[in-house]
Formats: sequence, structure tokens, C-alpha cells
Amino acid sequence: SRPNDIRPNDIRHIIEADRAHVWHHLTQHKGFEVNDPRIFVEGKGMRLWDATGREYLDAVSGGVWTVNVGYGRTSIADAVRDQLVKLNYFANSAGSIAGARFAEKLIAKMPGMSRVYYSNSGSEANEKVFKMVRQIAHRHHGGRKHKILYRERDYHGTTLGTLAAAGQAQRREQFGPFPDGFVEVPHCLEYRSQYGAVENYGELAADAIEAVILREGPDTVGALCLEPITAGGGVITPPKGYWEKVQDICRRHDVLLHIDEVVCGVGRTGEWFGYQHYGVQPDFVTMAKGVASGYAAISCTVTTERIFELFKDSPDDPMSFFRDISTFGGCVAGPAAALENMRIIEDEDLLANTRAMGERLLSGLWGLAERHRAAGDVRGKGLFCGVELVQDRATKEAADEKQVQAVIADCMANGVIIGATNRSLPGLNNTLCLSPALIATTDDIDRIVAAVDGALSRVFH
Ligand code: PLP
Repeated sequence: SRPNDIRPNDIRHIIEADRAHVWHHLTQHKGFEVNDPRIFVEGKGMRLWDATGREYLDAVSGGVWTVNVGYGRTSIADAVRDQLVKLNYFANSAGSIAGARFAEKLIAKMPGMSRVYYSNSGSEANEKVFKMVRQIAHRHHGGRKHKILYRERDYHGTTLGTLAAAGQAQRREQFGPFPDGFVEVPHCLEYRSQYGAVENYGELAADAIEAVILREGPDTVGALCLEPITAGGGVITPPKGYWEKVQDICRRHDVLLHIDEVVCGVGRTGEWFGYQHYGVQPDFVTMAKGVASGYAAISCTVTTERIFELFKDSPDDPMSFFRDISTFGGCVAGPAAALENMRIIEDEDLLANTRAMGERLLSGLWGLAERHRAAGDVRGKGLFCGVELVQDRATKEAADEKQVQAVIADCMANGVIIGATNRSLPGLNNTLCLSPALIATTDDIDRIVAAVDGALSRVFH
């Protein structure tokens, strides 16, 4: 039943206003000549309702792994409201109560880290790291250690700087030229191993990073930027032994390790942060989406005291600070929402739920892989799973865009919203994404698996 009270005439007007004036993200608008744009109006827990009153089970947390604690959290709305009526804003050159409290709480979950720099999006948080690395290079290495390595298939954002670090070359098409000094290292997707079937794939994939550092010259390489588990590039869980070796390589060559937790951060994988599964100690961690579950725009660039100290070593030098600002990094609604978001995850024990429901989801998907030849590989950690679709198991030829979209449409027709890796990336767009909110129940998980099961039967019969 419809949870909202919009009158049919008003709905028509809203849909037409959207069609006429809204420029949607990553969207070819030709489709709207035939179909109405979908407009969501209300959410509660795992459920969403659109403007026509249809109900959906959201298996992708707001489309892009964002609404970690689910929809309709009045306590977050209350925390934001209370903050806004008291104080909405002052530039972050000054502090705020919520900003200080959230930083303290966050750092307590990240042993070894010590400083939080606030901004508003994942892209921005990553740009901050790139700028910190560049400034460190200029201040401490005569400008030489300025190169930033990124990995094939990873994604770090939509700005020109972060696109220069996109391991998805298709993303850069028609946007060049880009800033210099970004260098790609090979991916670590074992299913599509560059070395054939080998026991030590993880080590070889890490060695490939070292080879790039040696080729470029370690004295020119400032940082290595990696997703802990690659998200939009295919839900790529790291192979055994990979992270240990990556950490060792970074230490030996004095390369700072930047882990992009924009997707994995704040509980998604069943730990507070994805890297915490692998025992690594990064120099930078960035996070955004789940920090406030989409109730406010906030991102964080977190670093160590050692890095922070590099910016204040010459008190008499007018350039000896991080020369960067983000106006809306001073919006206090962000940390107010983030604090309440974190309290919910703790009080409702959502990390434990994520681990338990994640196992159920993964084993359900493995069950599908046994029954459906199109389910070539199943990967994931916690409530962050992917199913790579193929035409043929032997050749691993990727399923095509039409098939992938047909699976998504079939699930949608049955009231379950699932996603896939990026539509705009031919060759990389064949992995279904299943990432429900951390509050998912066994019934939700079973319904998601059943929807994918039915869709695979119908699309690949
Ligand atoms: N980093 C990763 C791993 C992402 O998946 C994304 C977005 O999907 C970003 C960074 C960019 O975040 P935003 O869209 O908030 O700028």
C-alpha cells in the first residue's frame, strides 16, 4: 500500500518536471522518452516506495552502497535537526562539538590513526590525500616523490584528479587532458588471473605493484591508492597473501599507503573498515558513503600523527600547513549525523549482523553458482557481494550489457532492487552487486537470493 499522500495529479506533475528539468547522474536520457523516470518518495528500513506507490526491497543500500543503517532513521533526523537549530555552520578552521566528538569516536576504531580532515564526498576525500602527498613531496622530497599509483579496475571519484587515478580507463574518455603523475598497477582479480591458475596469485599480484615502483623509480613514487575490496570495478576481494605483501612493499620503498574505504568503510564488510580484515596499517584512509548513511553529506580523510607532523615542521614558514579548504567541511550536520549513525551500528550490533547475514548471502549466491552456468564467480565480504556473469564458464566470456540489465530489470519487476558494476564500462559491467543495508534479516537475504535465482533462470534459459 502507498505510504505517501501525493495525489495522482501531483505525481504526474512531478514526473514531468523531472523529465523536463533534472539532469540525472550517469544516465542516457533517451530512456525517459519511453519510460517515466523513477522517483522514490519514502523509505523505511530496507524498503522503498516510489511515487506510484510501488514497494521495493532495496538490495543496494540506496543504489551505491550508501544507506548502511537503512531508511527512516528518525534518531539521525533528530540529531541533525537538534544540531541545525543550535549551530549549522562555521568554517572548519574553527572546531565544532559534533566534529570533535565524531573524530574522537572514529579514531578510537582505527588504531594507529590520529587525525580526521572533513569534506563532503568520496572524491573530495581522495583528492585531499593526493594533495597531501603532493605537498609532502614538495616539502620533504624536493618535489620528486610525487607519483600516485592506482590499480586497474579501482575507482576513486569523479573529479579530474581522481579520474586521473581511475583504474577504469573508460571513465576518462572524453574528459582529458588529466593531471600528470598517476600510474596504473595491475588488478588482483584471481578469477581473471594474469598468470593462469597459480597457488601464489596474491603474491604475484603484489609483486606486480613492486615492479611498477621499480620501473618508475621508488624515489619518484609518493603513494599507492587501493580499495580494500574493489567495488564498482567488480567486487574484487583480495587474494590470499596480497595485502601482507603490499604493506611490505610500501614500507620497503617508503611509499605511503592510501586505502579508499569510501564503499567498504563503516561496517559494510562486517568490520568497521575493510582493511581491518587484512591486518594492514595504512597511512591514509578515506571514507564517505556509509559515514552518515546518506542522511548528511560528509566524508573524512583520516591519517596518522606522523603524516600530520610533516605539515607542521616549520612554524615560521607560512606554507607549512595543509593548504586546502572545503567550505562545506564546516557543516556540522555531517558529524552530528555520523555520530548517531555510529551509535546505531554499535547499539544494534550491526557488525555482527553484517557478518552473519553476509555469510548467508554469500552461501546463497554460491548455491546459485552451482545451479546457473551464467554465475561464473561469486565474491564478497560481509554485506558486500558480487556475482560475475558469464556467457560461458569455460571461456569466462563476460555476459553482455543487455543480459546484465535484463537480470536487474527482472529483479526490479519482482520488487527487488539490485545493481551491477558500472554500465558505462564495457567489459567490466558484468558483475551483479548485492549490498543490502547492515540491518538485513534472514528473510530479506533469502528474498534477494530468490529474486536473483529467478532472474537468472529467465534471462539465461
Ligand atoms: N571511491 C570509491 C571506492 C567509490 O566507489 C566512489 C563512488 O562510488 C568514490 C570514491 C567517489 O565517491 P563520491 O561519489 O562520493 O565522490
